[in-house]
Amino acid sequence: MTVQASSTARVLEGLRHASVSEADRWRASTDRSGYVSASAPDGVVFAESADDVVTTMRLAAANRTPVVTRGAGTGLAAGASARSGEIVLDLSRMNSILRIDPVEQLAVVQPGVLNAELNAAAGEYGLFYAPDPASTAICSIGGNIATNAGGMRCAKYGVTREAVLALQVVLADGRTLRTGRETLKGVTGYDLNALITGSEGTLGVVVEATLRLRPLPVSTATVAAFFPDFATAAAAASAVIAARIQPSLLELIDGQTLEAVDMALGTDYRSRGGAFLLAQTDGFGAYLEQDVLIEAIKPFATSFEKAADAEEADRLLMARREAIPSLEKLGRVSIGDIGVPRGRLAEVALGLEDITARTGVRIFTVVHASDGNLHPMLVLNEEDSVTEGPAKVALGEMFHLAKRLGGTLTGEHGVGLLKRDWLLPELGEVSMDVHRIIKDALDPDGILNPGKAI
Ligand SMILES: Cc1cc2nc3c(=O)[nH]c(=O)nc-3n(C[C@H](O)[C@H](O)[C@H](O)COP(=O)(O)OP(=O)(O)OC[C@H]3O[C@@H](n4cnc5c(N)ncnc54)[C@H](O)[C@@H]3O)c2cc1C
Repeated sequence: MTVQASSTARVLEGLRHASVSEADRWRASTDRSGYVSASAPDGVVFAESADDVVTTMRLAAANRTPVVTRGAGTGLAAGASARSGEIVLDLSRMNSILRIDPVEQLAVVQPGVLNAELNAAAGEYGLFYAPDPASTAICSIGGNIATNAGGMRCAKYGVTREAVLALQVVLADGRTLRTGRETLKGVTGYDLNALITGSEGTLGVVVEATLRLRPLPVSTATVAAFFPDFATAAAAASAVIAARIQPSLLELIDGQTLEAVDMALGTDYRSRGGAFLLAQTDGFGAYLEQDVLIEAIKPFATSFEKAADAEEADRLLMARREAIPSLEKLGRVSIGDIGVPRGRLAEVALGLEDITARTGVRIFTVVHASDGNLHPMLVLNEEDSVTEGPAKVALGEMFHLAKRLGGTLTGEHGVGLLKRDWLLPELGEVSMDVHRIIKDALDPDGILNPGKAI
């Protein structure tokens, strides 16, 4: 698409809440992936209502102006990173929880509400919102929907897609699409919730979401175990799955990441083992399940401990939540997000060692072990690129490793700008064609988040 330089100016002039300040524009040129666009976008529109979004999209469509929707900018695939010739539609001011219905167990929210804010509000009704990215305190529900975000308890309770009941979405031409319904069941029409969820801002702008809540578990049991190395911990995690229990959380951290966490938090996990597995079981049978879990990991573990209370469990969880911020203190972090069948985690551990040996890139790994989703993280020098050179080679090798093992390029962070090179090998020609047909049908001028996701 050819963009006239003046088209963004025309759009920005016609909008309330538009900013062309250097600070706002450069902030919108990046997210938390480590990637920064070479140029800043032309302006940022801070929408305060669905009407603001409609007006923005109508003007953008009339001027064929590219629009990059932005939630909280915590994405790890450069999906919200905008550049010159584009305007950014920032939804962080649309941050109201409109309704919580404790009988239907649902919440209606604007997209800028933070994940943790929704959970705090739901907690007052004895409910919770299940998808819990480690970024819960800083990421928005709109961003979660656009990336189909996952988290630690998703293996038991499902990822964002399973929590979306209904959406209001402003399309590229400014019309408002309503998808889904408030009832738990309902199969009228195509499943447009599922189409929009995970579409990374390329098919429409989510301006309202109706989300499923669940009853808070009556009890939660937490156990932490240490292992000589990552491969042994991965084998233990596979043994937990094979024991046919359903942990609500099963997180694995490798030795190098433990070292970084220790440095950041002042803990001493690394001295206790070369890998750490944190497991929670919940519900009425939490402690019965925990017994089965401990039997499954015992043959592999060098030691384990049960959390005595919620405070101790939170302290253990902090090691996982702080893994990425701890690594960010060491340098620029580029985060892989591969998924493999859950029984093959130990093979990935060996494959990653091999990638380090061949590329010279140090890889730190945390794993959502109960759904086979690994985050191998490259820690680079601040001046190193995340899109070229050794980082690019290592990310490509990770994808090929996952593919060889029957897995996928991205489990939860999305494709964004950074992973498009490996789309075709995973999806194949026919699937790519169908993706393009859908995109063309909903956004014929290609103005929504161009160059991202597909
Ligand atoms: C420390 C840390 C830990 C993380 N842990 C996890 C994790 O455990 N699991 C996980 O899944 N992710 C994780 N992430 C990644 C990130 O938080 C998620 O991808 C999150 O869903 C992004 O939300 P956001 O509001 O920041 O979106 P942004 O970064 O602003 O945007 C992400 C994408 O969504 C689009 N978008 C945003 N809002 C809308 C909207 N309303 N309508 C349409 N499109 C929209 C953007 O265009 C972009 O393509 C982590 C990130 C960090 C920094």
